Amino acid sequence: MRAIGLTVLVVTLGVAQGCATAPEQTVEPSELSEAVFDQGLITTQDEYEAAMLAAQPGDTLVLANGVWRDFDLVLDAEGTEAAPITLTAETPGEVVLSGQSSLRLGGRHLVVSGLVFKDGYTPLNEVISFRVNSERLAFNSRVTNTVIEGYNNPERVQRDSWVVMYGQNNEFDHNHLSGKLNSGPTMTVRLNSEDSQNNNHHIHHNYFGPRPVFGSNGGETLRIGTSHYSLTHSGTLVEHNFFDRCSGEVEIASNKSGGNTFRGNTFYKSRGTLTLRHGNGTLIEGNLFEGQGAPYTGGVRVINAEQTIRNNAFRNLTGTRFSGALVVMNGVPNSPINRYHQVDGAEILNNSFEQVSTIELGEGSDSERSAVPINSRFENNLVIGSRDQTPFNLYDDMSGIAFADNVTNLEPPAEIASGFNLVGDGAPVDNTIGASGEFGVAKSDTGVEWFAKADERSPFEGGQVTLVEPGQNKIFEAIAQASTGDEIVLQPGAYNEAKSIALNIPVTIRAAEPGTVQLSFERRNLFQISADGALRLSGLSVSGASAPDNVGNSFITSSTRGGPGNHIVELSDMAFDDFVINRAFSIVTAAKGTFFDRVEITNSVFNDVSGVPFKFDAETDDFGIYNVEYLIIKDSVFSNVRGSIASIYRGGRDESTFGPHAFISGSSFTNIGAGEAPLAVLHGAQNIKIEDNTVEAANPVRFVITTGIPKVSYTGNQGVDGTPASILVTEDLRK
Ligand code: CA
Repeated sequence: MRAIGLTVLVVTLGVAQGCATAPEQTVEPSELSEAVFDQGLITTQDEYEAAMLAAQPGDTLVLANGVWRDFDLVLDAEGTEAAPITLTAETPGEVVLSGQSSLRLGGRHLVVSGLVFKDGYTPLNEVISFRVNSERLAFNSRVTNTVIEGYNNPERVQRDSWVVMYGQNNEFDHNHLSGKLNSGPTMTVRLNSEDSQNNNHHIHHNYFGPRPVFGSNGGETLRIGTSHYSLTHSGTLVEHNFFDRCSGEVEIASNKSGGNTFRGNTFYKSRGTLTLRHGNGTLIEGNLFEGQGAPYTGGVRVINAEQTIRNNAFRNLTGTRFSGALVVMNGVPNSPINRYHQVDGAEILNNSFEQVSTIELGEGSDSERSAVPINSRFENNLVIGSRDQTPFNLYDDMSGIAFADNVTNLEPPAEIASGFNLVGDGAPVDNTIGASGEFGVAKSDTGVEWFAKADERSPFEGGQVTLVEPGQNKIFEAIAQASTGDEIVLQPGAYNEAKSIALNIPVTIRAAEPGTVQLSFERRNLFQISADGALRLSGLSVSGASAPDNVGNSFITSSTRGGPGNHIVELSDMAFDDFVINRAFSIVTAAKGTFFDRVEITNSVFNDVSGVPFKFDAETDDFGIYNVEYLIIKDSVFSNVRGSIASIYRGGRDESTFGPHAFISGSSFTNIGAGEAPLAVLHGAQNIKIEDNTVEAANPVRFVITTGIPKVSYTGNQGVDGTPASILVTEDLRK
């Protein structure tokens, strides 16, 4: 940009040039050279600030293409309805805000479009905020055609939200928000001052891309309101958005205010439910909940008064309990504002539930949540269960819900049966029953056109195959050259690694022929996984004998150094031996603040290990945070392990997560847990399976129940002589 002093490069779009009240630093367009004016691009943060301060109704501020680092972007200006002030990109998608960048809007009639936030994280509480500060909010303003992708604080527990709406009459549409990993809802609407209530916001045609399991409360994709202002009218309209695998926690969306509308949205393969957590008088209409049979997929969870759920389609949902296709909660009598208000006046009409696992009525009933639903109706619904029993579960007296003119395929419980006609699966149904019309929105009609939406490919697919010969540091060198999804095939022979390998992409490393590759390593960790790191190992024989004598060695560990991630480790046909150089050697360990989606061990052998082979117990501060969603051990052999074979810790009492899961099956355990150590420690696990294992010289598994109603499957375990063995001891810490 040429030197033109305080020149402000304001492109005035068809507005009369007579800005009588133009601030004095504005250079009248006629004084600018034609060349500068044609260019019209803002290329530095200082230029932007000067331009913004001078902006008049009808002006457009255009950021030049390129990467803008650490840009505290503020648009604080007053447009008019006929002539808004616009901030946009030279080319949509080519203006990237990275590092510690953020955007704040204040004033009226502002429009922002075309920006991309990636490769960084916000230093503030939000990435895009519809306020400059608590005094200066945005009204009648719009953010559109903008992307936030993977813009995550490297510390998972650091809380922020990507988009926060304040003020009134604002619009957020055709944006793409994908891959949030750290704590805090992806998007929130705040009602924390009078100017942000009765807000009339419109949130539409956005693509909410995958939000993987967070591993604690705080993984919602959208939250409207908070318990504190929940009895206040909000009036936000959420329509035609696509929620793609938004599975952070039990609430896909958490409605915590009154008078909102969710219309025509698609919830695709998303765990949990749209939860009417607080506030009254919300309408849920014309939405599609399509679970595709994925785990924990649910529909709507109903709490509070005057909620209407009508003409929605609920399909292929496997969730139960808090993630049922429909969950009507019990309330707390005279509930405090942050607990559960009684369901009163719910209207559940003309919905189609097709291939759903459960509809939960009076869910949460206990000595505290004893207020059953009242004055409610469940009418003209079609309910086709996916199992061999009715999907309806009644946990309390449901006489406060009037059931009438519904159709179902499986005999419902006697208490509500009079409100149903039975049909065979697939039989034609009167068209006044169930939902009709169009539901949800197509993925392609949401988000932006110029930024690809997430696909459903395995992270281990799509790369190249590289053959590697045995020798020194050969795996380190291969990983240094590897790209996402690559497969490294080790030729027979001995491999020794003197360097630790930082892994931030998914890769597969496998023996060309199982059992022909010997691997040793000389550092306390061979693999340090961060960011998108995921590792599939197959067919290797690994020795820990060359590792240093450090307490806390672990063959694989996680790290926050390269950013947060949801990691996967798969070990199959592996043999581990001689992990005893120090007294606490592990195979896979989670560092505090890190998370594994899945650690899966198949058909592998572990002998002589001094520590806990699978150690996911770094979150000991009882915040409900944990380190692994699924630990799966099957068809494997463990012998001479001094620690427990696995340790999982999930403290805290909130009911926000489906995990951790620990599935241990078809394996044998001999001489485990020298002294007192249990075979495994599963503290706070929500779902355990211990099936068909053989055990000799080991203490039982210690399972500690801290919250919720864990699923437990325990069967077929035996001693080496074939007699049934009791290898599970349960402790219950719930009240
Ligand atoms: Ca939550």
